Amino acid sequence: MSFWPTVAVATPAHGGLAQTLSYRSESPLAPGTLVRVPLGSREVLGVVWTCTDVPPQDLEPAQARPIGAALEGLEPLNGRWRQLVQFAARYYQRSLGEVAMGALPPALRELDNTQLQRRLRRLATARAGTGNGSSGAPTPVNIPMVSTDQERALAALAQADRPVLLFGATGSGKTEVYLRATEQALAADAKAQVLVMVPEINLTPQLEARFRERFEAGFGAGALVCLHSGMTPPQRLQAWLAAHAGHARIVLGTRMAIFASLPGLRLIVVDEEHDPSYKSQEGARYSARDLAVYRARLETDASARCQVLLGSATPSLESWHAAAQGRYQRVDMPGRIGGGELPRLRLVDMNHQPKGALLAPALLAAMQTRIGRGEQCLVLLNRRGYAPVLSCGACDWKSSCPHCSAYRVFHKIDRTLRCHHCGFTQRVPRACPDCGNLDIVPVGRGTEQLEEQLGALLADVRRPDGSPVRVARMDADTTRAKGSLEAQLDALHAGEVDVLVGTQMVAKGHDFRRITLVASVNADAALFASDHRAPERLFALLMQAAGRAGRDARHSSASEMWVQTWHPQHPLFDALARHDYPGFATAQLADRQAAAMPPFGFQALLRADARSQQAAQAFLNGAAAAAAGLPGSDQVTLYPAVPLNIQRVANVERAQLLLESDSRPALQSFLAAWQPVLLQARSLPEARGLIRFAVDVDPLTV
Ligand code: ADP
Ligand code: ZN
Ligand code: ZN
Repeated sequence: MSFWPTVAVATPAHGGLAQTLSYRSESPLAPGTLVRVPLGSREVLGVVWTCTDVPPQDLEPAQARPIGAALEGLEPLNGRWRQLVQFAARYYQRSLGEVAMGALPPALRELDNTQLQRRLRRLATARAGTGNGSSGAPTPVNIPMVSTDQERALAALAQADRPVLLFGATGSGKTEVYLRATEQALAADAKAQVLVMVPEINLTPQLEARFRERFEAGFGAGALVCLHSGMTPPQRLQAWLAAHAGHARIVLGTRMAIFASLPGLRLIVVDEEHDPSYKSQEGARYSARDLAVYRARLETDASARCQVLLGSATPSLESWHAAAQGRYQRVDMPGRIGGGELPRLRLVDMNHQPKGALLAPALLAAMQTRIGRGEQCLVLLNRRGYAPVLSCGACDWKSSCPHCSAYRVFHKIDRTLRCHHCGFTQRVPRACPDCGNLDIVPVGRGTEQLEEQLGALLADVRRPDGSPVRVARMDADTTRAKGSLEAQLDALHAGEVDVLVGTQMVAKGHDFRRITLVASVNADAALFASDHRAPERLFALLMQAAGRAGRDARHSSASEMWVQTWHPQHPLFDALARHDYPGFATAQLADRQAAAMPPFGFQALLRADARSQQAAQAFLNGAAAAAAGLPGSDQVTLYPAVPLNIQRVANVERAQLLLESDSRPALQSFLAAWQPVLLQARSLPEARGLIRFAVDVDPLTV
């Protein structure tokens, strides 16, 4: 007797949204079983989706190819995991196979049964080595008494029947709430698992250390694993297997971790839930935060419940709105641990500063005072490199990238011009390539230059022990090497740095104890960006940055957040000065409502990459023209195609088309019905030169 499994395999991009492929098997296979199957001339990994003893109608039984070997020793992926994957594929308009395979660690695809058995044995040994596996109590080292606010938050979480939005000031002790909530979930059930997500890899070491300190002694080292893209493929595989087998009780990870197989999932924590990094910008453009909310609901049934805890000092407007509507439960922790105060805002009106001044004299003086007292300063500039562009004073030459519609950035440290979009890098020319002029000059400033100039401006300042000031820089360039971020953070914590210059990566999440002054040097661009989310992001960034200051109550009374701006009257600063996120959110939501923008309306983008801008737009407009009459189309507005802000990257022209609707279901059914139209529009003669297209549902930038 034969059986007829359908299997999700990684289908080639643009193969359409074919959901699964059909095979033949001599024995029944449980859905969720990992199998190897023939695909073309290769053999690939797949997940059994269904299996019946009735041959599928669209397949001649004789033509069905026999399925390969199942991976032995692995429990099938459970129904809830499969439902999550299926939902994500449908909602974000990708093929099931692509999402399913993307959710598995890449190394699993390469594995044969012998290798897998070796890995599973290693997992078992590792587990045996760590002693009491499942239900240890955490040893009481460094466990603080919970504050009243924290206690209230935990009580609310224990009662909540919906997602909990933890609105906690920076330094209010949100992490302690995550730790306690984890402890409670693990204690309630010997098989319980907890997923804790952070927006960026560089926040994982600090969080991992805190979780290890709390749980390792009681649960064993193997009970906590990380999942993020900074790990090697074997490390990721091992962590994934531990989670899938249930040995790993706590999984810490970045957005990809939302797809981990966690058979005992009881709590999902999303830290800094407002962070745009939770939205994937390639492949299936999913939002890990939104999927966390969906997954928690999936994992809840009559026998068990899974909770979701979203934490932030500046929640996303989506979550804020959901809480206002009662779909989420909001819990506030307004006060800082230890009673420290949030820093005072000092706005510097750049219209009244000496011409060309990098830092206002008053700001510089304030920094000198702090350094003299042995305190630390953090200076933010959201642009790495030395200068964003080099320019010739004699002719019109600028350091454009030949492959992109963008300038190459001058990096003085290795005297290169680097394109931050395509990576194209060259040595800085000695003279202007166009006219031979020797005087080519940097225009504008990046972190490298700020570091250099601050070093010069502060050269005469002494620390309390009489030694000179130490200025350091932290950005994507200085933290690229493995371990360098940790080393730099250690140096900062050890007080070896007085002034830290950095991009937004230093503004997030870190618990710096001795920083009492934070300065944002040039944030104005975001005030007038066309992107309707720019103010929200700027506000969050400045609040987060301010949150790095005064975290130690001993220094906090005088901590300050300086912002240099040409537009000090902007209402955003008013709310910022009062640390008034609710006021800011209310005003933003009113604007959004008036414009029918998210979360009051729903959006999607169709994006196209092509050899020419014309072809990209022709494809988009062609697809739009063919959309009339599709289900949902009467409730969906399609706008004309436009070039992206940075129109050309690596010689590829980019364009997009915005879709809006008041109804999420209408937008969803429209998008589903539109897929075959998109495949057809690819072959329009005007669209020749189209390279790829993608749908982005709930896009973050439009
Ligand atoms: P947040 O994540 O909200 O910015 P953290 O969780 O990093 O804040 O907490 C800020 C600081 O307060 C940390 O150094 C943490 O160890 C400390 N802390 C948190 N909760 C308590 C508590 N209940 N008692 C004493 N210290 C605490
Ligand atoms: Zn020139
Ligand atoms: Zn480029």
